This record gives sequence, structure tokens and C-alpha cells, in this order.
Amino acid sequence: MSAVSSQCPEIGGHVVAKFGGTSVANFDAMNNSADIVLANKAVRVVVLSASAGITNLLVALAAGCDADKRADYLKQIHSIQYAIIDRLHESDTIRQEIDRLLENIKTLAKAASLATSAALTDELVSHGELMSTRLFTELLRQRGKDAEWFDIRKVMYTDESFGRAEPNYEQLQSLATEHLLPQLKNSLIVTQGFIGREENGRTTTLGRGGSDYTAALLGEALGLKRVDIWTDVPGIYTTDPRVVPAAQRIDKIAFDEAAEMATFGAKILHPATLFPAIRCGIPVFVGSSKNPQAGGTLVCDTTEAPPQFRAIALRQKQTLLTLHSLKMLHAQGFLAEIFTILSRHNISVDLITTSEVNVALTLDTTGSTSTNGSLLTNALMTELSTLCRVEVEEDLALVAIIGNQLSQTNGLGKKVFSVLEKFNLRMISHGASNHNLCLLVQGKDAEQIVQTLHQRLFE
Ligand code: ASP
Ligand code: MG
Repeated sequence: MSAVSSQCPEIGGHVVAKFGGTSVANFDAMNNSADIVLANKAVRVVVLSASAGITNLLVALAAGCDADKRADYLKQIHSIQYAIIDRLHESDTIRQEIDRLLENIKTLAKAASLATSAALTDELVSHGELMSTRLFTELLRQRGKDAEWFDIRKVMYTDESFGRAEPNYEQLQSLATEHLLPQLKNSLIVTQGFIGREENGRTTTLGRGGSDYTAALLGEALGLKRVDIWTDVPGIYTTDPRVVPAAQRIDKIAFDEAAEMATFGAKILHPATLFPAIRCGIPVFVGSSKNPQAGGTLVCDTTEAPPQFRAIALRQKQTLLTLHSLKMLHAQGFLAEIFTILSRHNISVDLITTSEVNVALTLDTTGSTSTNGSLLTNALMTELSTLCRVEVEEDLALVAIIGNQLSQTNGLGKKVFSVLEKFNLRMISHGASNHNLCLLVQGKDAEQIVQTLHQRLFE
């Protein structure tokens, strides 16, 4: 496992707690989350998502829509946030603040209906987190806690890839040390996940689900002791309990196993979340804000006796590209050319298998942009077709078996494949990592495959 880098600030005794959309969806959910914050004095930084549903509505507005649709979406946003305001005591100041943000949303949505842009989308979408953090700060104050609202854009500088911006870690660390660290001693900071700013001050976002990533980055930059991710499920399971009711909660899991799970679609954590945690060895706890007594999962450096099979992750909506080279056999540089094109189009490849003249690859759509834009643009397809014939297959699913020592184990194939006889396995990827065996299957078969494998490997 990674050694803790000497760049990491000293680990202090504080904790950052992140609450996801369902944990701040309404007044009762916010109150449960406030209970958690108030119960643990070590929690000094709170990172929030937008109230559940808000980001989707803002994304829809940002895509540009007619006046009726716009009015309807704005009304829905208004009613989600006002249902919270209406249950606060003395709500005059917060009402003004939220009204101001709602007015911004209205103006920006109108602008988007005339001409959309990625920068405008991020500006609009950021209002979800701006509102939830205002509301939660007020709720904490009314419950007697000295909470301070903080605009994360003061410290979260990113590049200008709107919709999927990458934070500048060095800048974050020095700005957070300057602007945030001194405040932690005296008060509790409430701030936004998911959003940042580029160099010129325009708002950016880190990709859907990016609040987890924000929390982990802050944990790292401030040298905190732990990152708590509060969501609507009490931890990480051997597979999605909605697909397999017999799935078991994992109490403790190592960073690298959890990173594989997040990457391969276990929807609990944003895939980038664990990188900052791994860099500094900061444990990440995942639990349910509705039911904190139920405990959760601790993701940390090492676990005792890592099991051969840890979990099964499922990712739907995968696209497979099969590229048939137009050049002769033994031609050199085909892969290099393909990957250059893909990288120019900002596409990260997920799985890959090759034969002499063909390459099959799946596209990584996790952490996709806020705009739901398709990765397969016409420009990309045109460029690829100068080099090769391209076949596209959609509606596939990726089933990843996550475990330990998988590429060193005898008999793995028999265990896994003997129960999958009746399914078409479109592509198999195994051997690059000790931690996974990936199967690309038809989307419609995927849940049944997960159920079958779970029964075989875990029950
Ligand atoms: N609110 C954003 C989203 O829905 C970010 C997050 O929740 O982490 O994707
Ligand atoms: Mg999330």
C-alpha cells in the first residue's frame, strides 16, 4: 500500500463530514445530519451536496428550455428549498438569501434558453450547493452551533474543464491553510462540495457526485484525521443490496479494494474520492445519516486477512468500440495513434482487449460531466474512421469481481465461469490488476449475472 507522502500536512484531530443529497433533501433529513455534526466535536468541516433532486433540475435548466418548462422547474426548486425554510424559526434573513439565489437561477436559466455553454451550466448548477449550505448553516445556528458558511471557491481552484474540472491540489493546500485552517479552531465550517473556480473566477464543477471528492481533498489539504461520508446506505456492501438483498455490509476495506469498487461502479463513492485519502493515508468512513447507529464501512490502509472475493460492482450503460485496423498486419503504431486521438477528445478508456488487427475498448463514463454530454462525438468518430473501421455497441454492462490475489489464484476461472454458462460474455478483462476480473455483458443480463455470481462467491 502507498506510503504516506511527506507532502502531507500533519494529521490533526479534526474530521470532515460530507452529507449527500438525500441527507440534506428536506428539513428532517437536515436535522438528522445536524444531529451527527452536533454529536461529534471533532467534526469541524461540513461539506454538502445540493438537496436531492436540485442538481438534476438545474442541469435540465442549463440545457435550455422553453418558458413553460422553465417555470415548472423553477417552481420545483423553489418548493424543495422552501419546504425547509418554512420549518426554520426566524427565517427572514435566510429567506432573503435563498430568494436572491433563486433569482440568479431564474436569470441564468433564461440566458441558457437563449444560448447554453459549459461555463454557464456550471454557474447555474453550483446554486444547488450554494443553497443547501446556506440552509444547513442556518439550521445549525438555530440549534445553537456557531457555524460559519464558507464559499469553497475561495480555495478550490480548478482547471477550466467545465463540468468535470480538476482541482489544483497545491493551490488548494496553500489557500486552505491560509483561509480555512485558522477558522477551524473557533468555529464549524459549512461549505459546498462539487464546485470550484477556474483561474479567472468563473465557477466550475467537478463532475456529478463530486462532493465526495471535495471532502476528501479538504481532508488531505487540512491534514484532518478522517473523512466521513454520510449517505443513505449504512456503508459499502458486497454488492448493491437493491440487486441482491443478501448482500453483506463490509465493515473494513482497504483503500485499493474500495478504489476498484468505486471505479467499477459501486455508486457509493465518487471514483476520485479515494486518491487524496490514499495519498495521505486518511481513513474514509461511509455511513447512513438516517441511521448512524447502524455503523458503516471504514476504508483504510490495511485490513486483516483480505478475502479472495470482496465485492461485485455493476456499471450499466457501457459502450464498446471495436476498431478494425485498415492497415496491414504487423503495422506499427496503430494503438499509439488510436490512443492519441482518444486522449485529444478527453476520453478515458476503461477496458481493452486486442488481437492482431482489432482493438476492443470500453469507454469510461463514470464521473461524467454535469451536462450529460455524449462522449462519442461526431468529430471523434470522423477522426477514428480515417484510421480504422469503427463498430459501436451500446447497452452493455460491466460486471467487476473485486478481490485480492485474483491473478495469482488457481481455479478462478472455473469458480466464476461455471455458473455463467447461459450468458453471453462479450468481453473479459483479467490479469492487469490483482484486484479485479471484469466481464462485459449484455445490459439486460447484468443483474442476473450479479445475483448468480454473488450467490456463488459470497452466500
Ligand atoms: N450535487 C451534485 C450532484 O448531484 C454533486 C454531489 O451530489 O456530489 O451530482
Ligand atoms: Mg453522491
